[in-house]
Order: sequence, then C-alpha cells, then structure tokens
Amino acid sequence: MNLIDTHFHLDLINDPISILEKIEKQKIYTIAVTNTPSVFHYTKKITENKKYVRPAIGLHPELAEQRIRELSLFKHLIHETRYIGEVGLDNIKKCSSASRDAQLKVFDEVVKLAQEAGNKILTIHSRGSEAEVIDRIGEKFPGKVILHWYSGSLQNLDRAISSGFYFSINSAMCRSKNGQKIIKHIPIIRLLTESDGPFIKLNNNDNSPLYIQSTIENIASILGLEKIELAKTIYKNFKIALNSPLKI
Ligand SMILES: [Zn+2]
Repeated sequence: MNLIDTHFHLDLINDPISILEKIEKQKIYTIAVTNTPSVFHYTKKITENKKYVRPAIGLHPELAEQRIRELSLFKHLIHETRYIGEVGLDNIKKCSSASRDAQLKVFDEVVKLAQEAGNKILTIHSRGSEAEVIDRIGEKFPGKVILHWYSGSLQNLDRAISSGFYFSINSAMCRSKNGQKIIKHIPIIRLLTESDGPFIKLNNNDNSPLYIQSTIENIASILGLEKIELAKTIYKNFKIALNSPLKI
C-alpha cells in the first residue's frame, strides 16, 4: 500500500539524500515543496530519477516581501514541474502593509500562471487568510488545489469544499481540538496527508513522509475508521486529484 505526503520540505531536512532513499524504498508518494524559487533547482536535481518524489516550485508567503525579486525566477521555472508550493497567504489582515502588498502580488501572479498552465497541483498555505485564498483562486480553477494545514472557520471550509479543494492533514492537526473538528468536517474523498517536516516535529525528530503511517492511524481513530481502509481512500483521492497514478 502506498502512503502519501503532499507537503514535505525535503531541502530543509538533515541529510535529504538518505531520507530520499528511504522514501523510495517505502514507496511513499511525496511532493517536495520549496519556499523560494532559488532552491528549486537543488530539489529538482536530487529528486531526478526518483519514482515517488516530485519537486514543487514555491514562494512562501512569509518570504514574499523579502524575496519578491524571485517572482521572475518563479515565472521562468514554473514550466519545469507540475507541482506548485509552498505558496499562499499568511495572516493577511494582521501583517504590515508592505508584506500584504508583496504577498498579494506574488499569490495573484502564481494563481494566474497556474490558471494559464491549466493542470498544476498546488499546495497552499492559508493561515489567517482562508477567505482571501478561496476568493483569489475562484470556483473555476483548472488545476487542483490542496489546502495544507487548514486552520480556519468551518464556514470557509465549506466554501473550499464546494470549490473542489483537497485538504492535507498533518500530525499537529490530529493533536489539536480545532484540527480534529476540521478533520471530521472534511468529506473523506477530499482528505490527503502531509508531514510538513521539518516544521512539525515528532518526538523531537523532524517529521517526514516516513511517519505518515502514524498520521493515518491518528486520522483513522478521529474518524472511527479502519486505518487500512483510510490509507487506501487517501491513495485513491491522490490518484483522482492527479488524474493519473503513474504521472505523479
Ligand atoms: Zn510547509
């Protein structure tokens, strides 16, 4: 059975090469997100010839102001992969106006480029900005949207669900009350899993795709499901989101 990690910061982990070997051995389909376009090449290079890991090009909202000049590099590189992330908006109402302007400029451009390309898979950060992210993507987005670590209201969650979005669940969400409420509210056909390592720690270790099994167990117990059945459903959801299991 294949496990799924749609949001893993491979380039920020200690010893990415040995982790990569283990991911390949365990056949865990993984989207290796990046936070700036300038590190995309590194991730692309080390994942070349890998069967289960794909590089994503990103520009993290918390770096948008500082790295706005890399937007042109983003435009240049977006054609090198089907995967986009980490992108999104962060606390858009609370941040400085300079950060807000940069974040919106970057995110609007990313959405436009992804719309033009048509078949992109996006893994999106939406903390404190859920309504803005949903509005800017719109209801007729041609690619697939995965909201990573969704933590907003159930009302916005319903809007995201009706826009056809997917949701990647991590171990921190399984531990929190709000996260559990969100997990129970998402239709099972829209659930995916993520590690968000190394930003999430597990017993003082960096989280990684290698621990996705325990997240599956946690989600299964929150939902009262068999873990094997849940893992199969999540794999199926991933295949449907991608339209083709072989072309991840
Ligand atoms: Zn992340």
